Amino acid sequence: MGVELIDTHAHLDYPDFSQDLEAVIARASDAGVTRIISIGTGIESSRRAVALAERFPNVYAVVGIHPTNVTEEGLDFLPALRELAQHPKVVAIGETGIDYHHVPEELKSLTPQTDYLQFQTTDDTGRLLAEDVWKNAQADAFRMQLDLAEEFGLNAVIHQRSAWHDTLAVLSPYTGRVRGVFHCFGGTPEEAEEVRSLGHLVSFTGIISFKNADQVRVTAAAVPADGYMVETDCPYLAPVPYRGKRAEPFHTRIVAEQVALARGITLEEVAAASSQTAETFFRFQRSGRAS
Ligand SMILES: [Zn+2]
Repeated sequence: MGVELIDTHAHLDYPDFSQDLEAVIARASDAGVTRIISIGTGIESSRRAVALAERFPNVYAVVGIHPTNVTEEGLDFLPALRELAQHPKVVAIGETGIDYHHVPEELKSLTPQTDYLQFQTTDDTGRLLAEDVWKNAQADAFRMQLDLAEEFGLNAVIHQRSAWHDTLAVLSPYTGRVRGVFHCFGGTPEEAEEVRSLGHLVSFTGIISFKNADQVRVTAAAVPADGYMVETDCPYLAPVPYRGKRAEPFHTRIVAEQVALARGITLEEVAAASSQTAETFFRFQRSGRAS
């Protein structure tokens, strides 16, 4: 023991944890995972994350709209999100970003005459325009959340999937004003360097333990000591030997062990470096340290 790790990306508000959350958090503490950041994916989810942060001293909240929820939430989320962002245990805004991997069902099945996000499509051109509307809505929601982060002096937790260039295009103007962490990073060392050169960070999940994840290990070995954090993204992405099961925050220790292995350093060194990075990235001091 002796290490102090932070699970910088967990979804403790998901129903997967509703039956045994206290045991889950106790197991994390026993494994040296002393702080857990619960990430909101919509207004209701963000509210639940804040409620969990109020209930557990070592749980903190990040509030935001996940890019795949933008269609459902619409673009009038700002007043509710602004209110949540004022909570002293909200340590960043997110998860926000751009995701073109998960195409909404209604867009996939879009036919002429379908109304999509109030856009009346009439032909194939209309279908393409509806796709633009979907992409623009994600970019707008992303920008609104980056603006909110700047307003509150907070950083942003970023979800990017199949949208590398568009994500960086939205984020680039914010360099020097808002920092982002590209969570669940699966890119190359060059992409990690591009992120770093713009002032941002990456974080690694249990994927680093997967057999086919050589690239993640290569990137984890290459990033500078102050350029990464560790996370679980639980309940998803449980590391080996729990792969396929429910992930939980104590797995952060396994992720950190894998990062240590990739970098050829000790778990203690990874814990110290990644926790120090998280300490400066997230606004824990808004509410003071909870032991
Ligand atoms: Zn997530």
